[in-house]
Amino acid sequence: MAGGRAACLLYLCCFWATTLSLPTPAIEDHDVDGGRDLDIFDINEAAGLNLAEGDIVLDEKQTRNSIIGEEYRWPRTVPYYMEDDLEINAKGVILKAFEQYRLKTCIDFQPWSGEQNYISIFKGSGCFSSVGNRHVGKQRLSIGTNCDRIATIEHEFLHALGFWHEQSRSDRDDYVEIMWDRISEGREHNFNTYNDTTSNSLGVPYDYGSMMHYSKTAFRNGTEPTIVTKIAAFSDVIGQRMEFSDSDLLKLSRLYNCTKASTFLDSCDFERENICGMIQGPGDTADWTRVSAAAGGPTTDYSNLGKCTGSGFFMHFDTASSKTGDRALLESRLLYPKRGFQCLQFFFYNSASSEDTLKIYVREYDKEHPNGQLRLVATIDGPPQDLWQLHHVSLDVKKKFRVVFEGTRERVGATPAGGMSLDDINLSETTCPEFVWRVQNFSHVMDTVAEDKAIFSPPFTSKEGYSFQMKLYPNGKAGNPGELSAYANLVSRPGDTGQKWPCPWKQMTMMLMDQNPHIQKRMSNQRSVTTDPNKKTTSGQLFWDDPCKVGKEVPAPDGTKYCRGPGSGTAAYLTHLRARSRDFIKGGDAIFLLTMEDVAHLTVSQPIPPTTAGPPTTTAATTNGTTPDLCGSVLCLNQGVCVMEEAAPVCRCAVGDDWWYYGDSCQYEGSQQASTNLVLASSLGVLGAMLVVTVVSVVCVRKKYKKKSDNNMVLENVNADKAT
Ligand SMILES: [Zn+2]
Repeated sequence: MAGGRAACLLYLCCFWATTLSLPTPAIEDHDVDGGRDLDIFDINEAAGLNLAEGDIVLDEKQTRNSIIGEEYRWPRTVPYYMEDDLEINAKGVILKAFEQYRLKTCIDFQPWSGEQNYISIFKGSGCFSSVGNRHVGKQRLSIGTNCDRIATIEHEFLHALGFWHEQSRSDRDDYVEIMWDRISEGREHNFNTYNDTTSNSLGVPYDYGSMMHYSKTAFRNGTEPTIVTKIAAFSDVIGQRMEFSDSDLLKLSRLYNCTKASTFLDSCDFERENICGMIQGPGDTADWTRVSAAAGGPTTDYSNLGKCTGSGFFMHFDTASSKTGDRALLESRLLYPKRGFQCLQFFFYNSASSEDTLKIYVREYDKEHPNGQLRLVATIDGPPQDLWQLHHVSLDVKKKFRVVFEGTRERVGATPAGGMSLDDINLSETTCPEFVWRVQNFSHVMDTVAEDKAIFSPPFTSKEGYSFQMKLYPNGKAGNPGELSAYANLVSRPGDTGQKWPCPWKQMTMMLMDQNPHIQKRMSNQRSVTTDPNKKTTSGQLFWDDPCKVGKEVPAPDGTKYCRGPGSGTAAYLTHLRARSRDFIKGGDAIFLLTMEDVAHLTVSQPIPPTTAGPPTTTAATTNGTTPDLCGSVLCLNQGVCVMEEAAPVCRCAVGDDWWYYGDSCQYEGSQQASTNLVLASSLGVLGAMLVVTVVSVVCVRKKYKKKSDNNMVLENVNADKAT
């Protein structure tokens, strides 16, 4: 694995077989939002707020044409301050929202270091923001109770960056009908429009899928929708709170004249013949070829799986027709890292012989090695499987480089048709998700699992030794049919040692992955919960105490028992309608990406800059993102990112685990560098005779819940749980 990081390359395929609905004791689920899908407007109404458009704070001089003016823009790197009253979970999700901005837009955020104008995030009585840079020095943005969803935070920051709501566009009456008689009395002003001299739609068509669009229920006085879409199919599309839509991103990049996101490096789905500038590596003895089907499998690519027959391409190394010892190198174009850590994600279909290998290298370039030097990062081993498997590999590259996929025919003697196939490669300077839970045949699971019945992911163990599992109600908790309900539960074994209870400040994130081939276009749905060591259960126990104390004993697949604590999450995780949209389900399967991160450092106040002197930084940023030439010569230490500011390269420090440190070398102290895990996996499981659950996990620490056999295969059971 990557140098300096844990040398663990284990990967486990966990075959989760069925046990027929083992009765398990009821375990408390805590709903972070009362089990309701609370939109921003619901939250603010409940808080008694009556703001413009529901969540917009207007100042005295503000007219509604303000946002057209350049003076209302922020510099592309926005200074922020997190006030002490914010919930810890909210702070963690705010940092995740910033990471999405960095991945998908040219907007970056850095801790306030004395700039004249900055955004101060606090816990107000709802979720709200002003529109644009108001030049008031400290400009406040509220992330109140129940506002700690990533899409809500991204939405409020889009206001702060200069955007109104989508349905207030001047042309909105062409696309939606406002049902005035269904709007609560006194709330009609929320449906105002701005004419096209005052609000600029930046040449982007009306977007029903915008994160800035109201839902059909906004400000209704009864049960009938207040917004009726002219195209009926969009009636349930409006109001999405998952992620930026493509048009949201386009408008943002037009308003801020930007071309490049700071942490995105490359993406390829091999649909075009130029294969995204990837090349056949020098010195190899075989080639990867671009095909739409391969003898021995796969019969289709992954990008278009199940959508378009006869189209869709991937890269294939035919090991069956190669000679023993043949190697085929597929190399990315030249890439220029800025942060020093990367996540490589790809789908791999392995129909080669089990002896054949796929290795991931980086080819690094410097003065001593003008032609590059290969460094092995990971070996993808494991038996061939009849499916496209998702893999993550953590990289730690700090100089100009390429990613290299090396396939080698190792098998001696004849071999049946087959080979190695790659598709949907994404590379970004982000942290890899730690754990992957793949649920096969997910559409069928949603159709057949009864309301209020749960399925469980396998337990995953974080690098700090805490284990958790995701509890998913495929057809909702009682009262929420047609929805996915999702909770995170800590688990432990009797006699466990080494953990501190109650579990302090771990943020568990459950993401249903939008499997769009391009990482910047994904609208994944995620929710996070954080273990507050002081939180109590309804019976007065400490909620996040040792699950063997506060939870229930449940049977493990291997016949032993373990303990499952109460769950925290939401009954309204995602509607079936949305879960069936986009690429949440591909080839029938759903993929959940799970993480558990330590957020204890967020309990400490963000330092206030020693001085706030200095010239205002209110001029519009003068550069178009970053250029490799200038930033290429700058090495930002400690995961800093080089950005162009005032035509000069400067280091912006990573806003991650240690978000308040800054300076030229991005020095920090305190918590250890997050060691990202190489996560490989896939899995198969069965619920009843029909549900197949696939799980892959790479765990660098204890795998105490998994019984490893010689070939790293794990056989465990998953059981349905009637929980109330
Ligand atoms: Zn809003």
